[in-house]
Parts: sequence; C-alpha cells; structure tokens
Amino acid sequence: MNHWLETSKRNLIPLSIAGSFEDALSEWIFTGNVLSYEDDEEVQCQLCEHLDLAYHFEINNKLNNKTLLVGSSCILRFDRILVSDKNGNALYAYEQRKSRLDEARKDQIREQTLEPLRLLWRHVKQDENLAAHIERNAKLLKKEGSLPPADLLSVFKEMKMRGINYQAHLYKVNLRVYYEVLKLEKMSPDDLRLIKGAFSTQQLKRYQSLFETKRDGNSPRK
Ligand SMILES: [Zn+2]
Repeated sequence: MNHWLETSKRNLIPLSIAGSFEDALSEWIFTGNVLSYEDDEEVQCQLCEHLDLAYHFEINNKLNNKTLLVGSSCILRFDRILVSDKNGNALYAYEQRKSRLDEARKDQIREQTLEPLRLLWRHVKQDENLAAHIERNAKLLKKEGSLPPADLLSVFKEMKMRGINYQAHLYKVNLRVYYEVLKLEKMSPDDLRLIKGAFSTQQLKRYQSLFETKRDGNSPRK
C-alpha cells in the first residue's frame, strides 16, 4: 500500500464526518490562508506527514469546522479538496488550482512584509518626514513586491532600532535600476549584512564579490 496515501487517510478520516476517504476529502476546502516560517523551523504536513515544508496551506472542514495545515502538493494531489478563486468560484483544472495556491502564498508574503511597516509607521507617525518615507516604501512594496536596496536598508534599520520583528528573507530587493545598485557599493559591511537576507540566490551569486570584499573578518552567518 502507498504509505503517503495511508498516512493521509489515517489523519483525515477521524477529523471528517464521512467514513470513506474520498467522501471525507469532499468536506474540506482551502481557506485562502497560508502560513510561512523561519528557515530553521521544522514544518510538517498534517495530512501526509511530509516534512520540510516551506509553507502551510490551511484547509477547513465545512461540516465540523476542523482545520488542518497541509502542503500545497497534498491539496493538488487530492483534487476533491475544494479550491476556489477570490470570487468564490470553484477551480477544477490542475493549473488553475496551482495558480490560486501560488497567488494565496504571494498574498500572504506581501501581508507579512507589510505588517511590520504598518507597525513602524504607527511608531513614527509623529515624525512627518519619516512617516511619509515609510508610507512611500509600504506603497512601493505593495505595488512592486520589492524595494531598492537603500530604501530596504533604511526600513530595516528603523524597524531594528524599534525592536519591530520582521523576516528579512520574505522581502525582495530590487536591483534592476543601475544607480540603485551603485548605492550597494557604498554600504558598510554591517549594512550589507542587514539586507543580505532579502537577496535571492541569483542576486547573491551575482553580487558575491560585494559581500566578500566587504567582509570584515567575522565569519558569515550559516
Ligand atoms: Zn501532505
């Protein structure tokens, strides 16, 4: 017997009304909620028990209101789990279901990057200039999904100074504009370290020399 399928049955049936796995699956819907975690957290699918997930997708049983946090691949494989678009229309095609899960994941990340900025804005709102700067960056982040390096650095610094928690790796740094990239070269090793988490693997590779020549003797993290 398929281990993955057996594990999923064992976990799902007790939380469902129906006694058969196929009918039980039809009771479940994707809620639209996605949870992300720090890199070093162990994240397991509550359905198939697969480890090392980067995200949890929440499914809810519409009959008894129970919830499970599962991997996106389980939702895609078990296509009786209902996935709807933002208007509530059920999606049946694999690609459509997959895009919707991706969209929900991106929405979640954007929300998680914006929330610390909102908190920061509330901290600094007495300071008009700074508040306007934060607001500008929040709008840019919402629109583009990324910030130029100097802006990202200033936002991270302000949050750090005020003890506001943020996950650097969820942010993206925009290096498409040349004069913004030039600003990277003027940054101190400490500043570079602060924004390094927001670099993609590709960006890190491309700007590797920057991090190497600027290294100040401390061993890099990890
Ligand atoms: Zn799973």
